[in-house]
Amino acid sequence: RSKDGGGGAFNTYEPQLHVKAEERRVLEMALRQALEKGELHLEYQPVVAAGTGGLTGFEALLRWTHPELGVVSPAKFVPLAEDARLIVPMGEWVLRSACAEAAQWPHPIRVAVNVSPEQLHNPAFVSVVASALANSGLPAERLELEVTEGVFMREGTGAVQVLERILDLGVRLSLDDFGTGYSSLGYLARTRFSTIKVDRSFVQGASKGQPEPIAIIRAVVALAQSLGMATTAEGVETEQEHAMIQELGCTKVQGYYFGRPLPVAEARALAGRKWGESSAAA
Ligand code: C2E
Ligand code: MG
Ligand code: MG
Ligand code: MG
Repeated sequence: RSKDGGGGAFNTYEPQLHVKAEERRVLEMALRQALEKGELHLEYQPVVAAGTGGLTGFEALLRWTHPELGVVSPAKFVPLAEDARLIVPMGEWVLRSACAEAAQWPHPIRVAVNVSPEQLHNPAFVSVVASALANSGLPAERLELEVTEGVFMREGTGAVQVLERILDLGVRLSLDDFGTGYSSLGYLARTRFSTIKVDRSFVQGASKGQPEPIAIIRAVVALAQSLGMATTAEGVETEQEHAMIQELGCTKVQGYYFGRPLPVAEARALAGRKWGESSAAA
């Protein structure tokens, strides 16, 4: 539209950039109000044992229902919330809600909660975790926090000490989206993760028979085993992918094949069934 010749590429692209910045500004303003307006809720995706298909827990996944836009993906609004530093109050709400819900589930069933690096750079987060457990009555060992490699990118922010203190509470840690960031094996030796989550991109590649992702999954499984950690394969969508993941030795599985993220009542019903029944449902 602005191709009048004189302005060149700059004029051509500027309106588009402007729209994006404007959309971002509007979304950010709406996001600021989302918490108090009660537009956020959680869904719970089943995590199962690779061998038996028995339910071991659920991952809490954040959802935002915008009054006009409908459900906005966390892939879109979580980065925005991080930039606007809204992730701290929002993450606290997620943690408290997930603990309160998980306290209703039968004993061995765990809840996994995603935590942003921004939350871990704040020492006060330890007392938020402790109070979420105390208020809900959820035993610490049934809470798992999922962190990404990004946490270890900024040295000297105290995140590692915060993780140590969270471990001291008896809470478990898992390393999410493993292999997609700037991985360093050093922190795997230093921080006591219970589980390494193998990113869906490797699962997808491996299921297409690509040798590199297969080799990487094998290596991660061997590494986890020797460090006494479990491995969860993310994004398993088909029976064939599940068979391959089992063959590669991942100990847990998560993905549409076993269950999509569920509304709270459905997750509660699934958790309430016995292991044998839930594995039959899988
Ligand atoms: P994640 O932690 O790696 O979560 C897994 C994502 O993969 C979820 O997307 C889930 O719905 C999706 N997924 C699970 N199984 C399958 C499958 O079989 N196929 C495919 N194609 N996708 C599958 P979702 O819910 O859109 O969340 C995206 C990301 O947003 C999460 O990735 C996580 O990084 C972030 N996120 C979600 N909730 C929270 C939260 O409460 N706090 C923070 N900080 N981040 C969150
Ligand atoms: Mg996760
Ligand atoms: Mg993940
Ligand atoms: Mg992932």
